[in-house]
Amino acid sequence: MKIFLCYIVKSSEQFAAVLTHNVNCAPLISIREEMMDSDKITRQILRGSEKGGKTYEFDDGHDPKKPAQWWFQESDEGKILFIVFYSMACRYSKCLGCNLPSKMSKKHIPFDDIMDQIDYIFALPEVIEKKDIIDKVIVSNNGSVLDEDTFSSTALIYLIAVLNRNFKNLKKLAVETRPEYTDLEELEFISRALKEGQAFTQLEICIGFEAFDDNIRNNVFFKGLAKEVFEDFVAKLSKYQFELKCYFMLKPVPGMSDAEGVADIAAGIDYLSEIAAKYNVSINMHLNPTYVATGTALVDSFEKGEYAPPRLQDLASAALHSKNKDITVFLGLSDEGLAVDGGSFLNSDNEWMVEVLEEFNRTRNFDLLQKVING
Ligand code: SF4
Repeated sequence: MKIFLCYIVKSSEQFAAVLTHNVNCAPLISIREEMMDSDKITRQILRGSEKGGKTYEFDDGHDPKKPAQWWFQESDEGKILFIVFYSMACRYSKCLGCNLPSKMSKKHIPFDDIMDQIDYIFALPEVIEKKDIIDKVIVSNNGSVLDEDTFSSTALIYLIAVLNRNFKNLKKLAVETRPEYTDLEELEFISRALKEGQAFTQLEICIGFEAFDDNIRNNVFFKGLAKEVFEDFVAKLSKYQFELKCYFMLKPVPGMSDAEGVADIAAGIDYLSEIAAKYNVSINMHLNPTYVATGTALVDSFEKGEYAPPRLQDLASAALHSKNKDITVFLGLSDEGLAVDGGSFLNSDNEWMVEVLEEFNRTRNFDLLQKVING
């Protein structure tokens, strides 16, 4: 993101007018020239999907003026509004087992459509009603919000303007991205803009790490994330005291036993704790139990009986390892309706465990994990 605008706007229409004025400026013309041709990015998305063995279609028919999804959740950080904006799909798209790009478009979604999505969300009665008690907003596009070729920079600036004007008590803004799309100027600008709001709003950057084991992460899951790259990224965040969330998956690939899945997460917790202490960065591990997502290579292994989703008892065991460590753990407990039949970690027998684990998310009471482990 390289466009800095200094205007007060009241609606997406006014903001679009500001932009129309600005596109006549030479710097923006060169920025446009720098932008990758959107057909080229579409080809990149399709190549990535092929490499990852994806068979799903993209949701090209979705109304571009409405977000893909949004919901409220509770954690020990308070009330959270999670928004998944509808944009061009993740252009990496390779990760085994991930079908999040299937909820997005393989075509470019213009900035004014995304701005309309922002207006749509902030006009919802349930959002207006809670605007003074929402502590945190998480912004996602099922890919990288900081990749300006798939998510408009203009829309991102507009989002921050709307948050500053309306969410007077916002404590944290979390932005999902792959690390390679972050640059310091961009983070600094977002942070500076957030400081103009009435309350201090901390910036949190959320990235997918998925598995600790290098071979599993990069050669089996195709994450494309080296630890050296991760550590350089953490050093950047540290300079500005931004917070970090790392998404991990319990038992993300076939060939891993339940015990190996738990051991990988425990090793990930130890590693992140060391990194948090070394760089003085606040880190939260968001731990998701894997589900068999439709249209991914995991389906084949599941149908052949070579893969079963992890148990919630193992999720609790893995999280228990974070007790007295330098990081916190939040448990993902939704399959977002994206699992094949029987391929979810959720079933009618473990609904009570979900409730107990949700309480753990709100309270960080480790006794609750033991209760789930004991069954
Ligand atoms: S896990 Fe993230 S980076 Fe990988 S394909 Fe899915 S959305 Fe893209």
